[in-house]
This record gives sequence, structure tokens and C-alpha cells, in this order.
Amino acid sequence: MNSIAQRLESVREHITHAEKQAGRPPGSVQLLAVSKTRPAEDLRAALGAGQTRFGESYLQDARPKITALADAPIEWHFIGPIQSNKTREIAEHFAWVHSVERLKIARRLSEQRPPELPPLNVCLQINTSGEASKAGASPAEALTLARSIAELPRLRLRGLMTLPAPAGDFEQQRVPFRQLRQLFDQLNAEGLALDTLSMGMTDDLEAAIAEGSTIVRIGTAVFGARAPNKGRGTKDE
Ligand SMILES: *Cc1c(COP(=O)(O)O)cnc(C)c1O
Repeated sequence: MNSIAQRLESVREHITHAEKQAGRPPGSVQLLAVSKTRPAEDLRAALGAGQTRFGESYLQDARPKITALADAPIEWHFIGPIQSNKTREIAEHFAWVHSVERLKIARRLSEQRPPELPPLNVCLQINTSGEASKAGASPAEALTLARSIAELPRLRLRGLMTLPAPAGDFEQQRVPFRQLRQLFDQLNAEGLALDTLSMGMTDDLEAAIAEGSTIVRIGTAVFGARAPNKGRGTKDE
């Protein structure tokens, strides 16, 4: 048994345990394997162990893998920062985008989504940390933005995503996730039919699941530690 298969198995057990702890039904949380910076062979190993959803943050890094793995039944999720000049390729090659934070980007993705493909699933990324340097729309502008995005013909607004600053303990980790869930509930009460909360990574997946996450985005626990400087939130150049 290879080590990626073993790691995947243990992440799945971890998720099942957290679902149980939170009193949630088994299978209510999906695992997105974050494969940024990993070679295609690593994704093949995960595929061999039954993983078909992969998350990528940098287009340059993702493109050769998407080509190399074109024969495989993979659902590609884009989770990184989006520059306007990259929207066409993202709209053409991905099934999901978790990191939409501006209407301009959403409009381009909708216009550029090829007509033969189903609508692109998107999440609105929310800045739950309140730091100017962090990516994401502010909670205050979420409703207006979500309504506008939901009207775009070639997108399907599925929910909200957040990437909080690392926090020390479990209770602190829960704070931004609870905030995202409350926002999700508010938007649904306003008539938006959202079904996705994309929250939780290797170090905070239990807290995210306790607060209602439906997709956890896990890199390190599945593939091992990344090389330094190839971590979170770097621009795609
Ligand atoms: C890298 C990344 C992850 C995965 O982080 P790990 O700590 O390795 O699990 C999740 N979400 C986003 C947006 C990322 O950039």
C-alpha cells in the first residue's frame, strides 16, 4: 500500500470521526484533495485510492496535470487567487471555483464558460479574519454580491468559502467557521439556495466540521508537507 493511499485512508477516518463527534450524518462532508505543487503521479496514486476531487491554486501548475490526467474521471476545483487574465482557462478546465471574491471575476467566468459544459459551480470567498491583507469579500457585502452572482447565467452559486488565519486552539478555530455558517444561513433565509460551505484544512478540519463544513480542502494530510514558499495564497504567475 503506498503512503498517499494510507494518508487518504486516515484523512477519511478523521473526517468520519469528526462527523460523528458533531452529530452529523456520515458522508455529509466531502474531501477535496488539494494537489497544488504536487506532480501528476501523486494525483494518480490518490485516484488509485478512490479520490476523484482535486483542488488546485495556481493555473500554471495545474494545466500540465489536467492534460496529463485527461483520461481520468477527475473533478477539478480551483481554489486560488484569480487574476482577470486567467478566467478563461479556469472557466474552460474546472468544474468548481471556490475563490470568487469580486463581481467582475464572476462575470468573466460566466461569459467565458464554454456552452457545451454545465454551469460552473462557484463559491463566494469571504474574509472572516477582518484583515485587509486577507483575500475574500467582506461579510457586509456578501448578500449584494451573492445576489448578483446568482443571476449570472453560466454560473451556479453553490455557497461560501473561507481561508481563515491560523488559530491556536479548537475554540478559536471555530470562530471564523461559525461566522461563515451564520452568513450562509442568512443568505439562505434571503432566498439564495446555497448548499456548500467550503471550510477546513489539514490543521482545522474538526473545527470546520463542527461548524457545518460540507467540503474540507486538505493538502498536507493527504500528500505530505509542501516545499517551503509553495503554501497558501501566493499569486499565480
Ligand atoms: C493550500 C490550501 C489548502 C490546503 O491546505 P493544507 O493545510 O495543506 O491542508 C486549502 N485551501 C486553500 C485555499 C489552499 O490554498
